[in-house]
Amino acid sequence: MNAEAFDAAVIGGGLHGLSAALHLARARRRVVVIERRWTGRHASGATAAGVRTLNRDVAEIPISLEAMDSWHEIERLVGDDCGFHSTGQLLVAETEEHMAGLHRREARMRQLGYRHEEIIDAAELRHLVPALSRHCVGALIARCDGAADPHRTILAFRRACEAQRVVIAEGCGIEAVSHERGIWLLSCGAHRFQAPMVVNAAGAWAGRVAALFGDDIALGVRASMMIVTERVAPLLEPVVGVVGRALSFKQSDQGTLVIGGGLQGAADLDRERSTVSFNELAKGARAAADLFPAARDVRIARCWTGIEAQTSDRLPVIGASPKAPGLLHAFGFSGHGFQLVPIVGAILAELAVHGRTRRNIAVFTPRRLMGEGIAA
Ligand SMILES: Cc1cc2nc3c(=O)[nH]c(=O)nc-3n(C[C@H](O)[C@H](O)[C@H](O)COP(=O)(O)OP(=O)(O)OC[C@H]3O[C@@H](n4cnc5c(N)ncnc54)[C@H](O)[C@@H]3O)c2cc1C
Repeated sequence: MNAEAFDAAVIGGGLHGLSAALHLARARRRVVVIERRWTGRHASGATAAGVRTLNRDVAEIPISLEAMDSWHEIERLVGDDCGFHSTGQLLVAETEEHMAGLHRREARMRQLGYRHEEIIDAAELRHLVPALSRHCVGALIARCDGAADPHRTILAFRRACEAQRVVIAEGCGIEAVSHERGIWLLSCGAHRFQAPMVVNAAGAWAGRVAALFGDDIALGVRASMMIVTERVAPLLEPVVGVVGRALSFKQSDQGTLVIGGGLQGAADLDRERSTVSFNELAKGARAAADLFPAARDVRIARCWTGIEAQTSDRLPVIGASPKAPGLLHAFGFSGHGFQLVPIVGAILAELAVHGRTRRNIAVFTPRRLMGEGIAA
């Protein structure tokens, strides 16, 4: 069977694949997104959609701040506001010891020239989040952070891709690849696609996809869990996390309380399934009740998990394969990749079109996770 020819093929129809495709299409490339199930099937459809610069690894801060600028103008990129609200994100201290740690973090940020994280005292914290338990002593705040609506975001990126004539091939899992005269041939059953450039945005399965191209990249897997409650009266505006506890707590536009924070269930990559661990999840519910007494009697409506790749240093893999010509990797977001979606797509398009990027991505190189035989 003849293969359909494109300038670039993106493997994975999550948000990172869609963002890469959109940026490539805007650079006048003919692009196909090849997705094994449907767009947003995995991490991008399960995400809490927190848009957070707060308390990031220092290595990620430059691209995270740039991504935050894009979130504040997301409508210009995808024609929809993606349900993004800039309500701020808080990292709350329950003890003076934790507060001292937050002061150290803020001082370090200032030393590095960053101003997006600020200390607030107990009085300001109470003013911003009156529903928070009185025992909390202060917080670190990133006032420009917030959260978006994940499903609206997926739809917006998908529609923006389609408006740029990106072909979205769902139900196509890439199983084999070959390379001839500078062109990659990608096979999924009887379907064939060919392109000189390929983006590996296959999320939790990106290590397996990399291996098809000869790249051996060590990856772990996460199965982060979420809780959503019944609708309640307005309780809080910012997104609240807590030092030393796996808790992220926010209220959706619909009034439901959305509780996450990285508690882990079990992942099964072969079956593309993940399972909630109710014992673990109870820790999140308990933390929410400790911090927000008004949430104690609220009923849980639904719990879920989503699968995602995790790297040993919790930093993503973004960059060109050192071995496979024309292959770019973007995965391993380790539980915090939603916020980076607008910027990583832009970086990948720059790499594909110009062979380099003006952003410093050296720290995200795939080489750091590759076996022997790859020179640093
Ligand atoms: C529960 C949960 C909460 C989260 N909360 C936040 C948050 O608050 N803030 C934040 O910034 N981040 C958060 N994240 C992380 C964020 O959602 C992810 O980093 C991001 O969605 C990853 O997008 P992706 O496109 O890389 O992966 P995915 O959305 O998983 O997309 C990868 C796609 O590749 C497809 N695929 C795999 N193999 C193949 C193949 N061989 N051929 C074709 N297609 C293939 C899969 O079917 C999948 O659709 C959370 C994640 C989870 C799971």
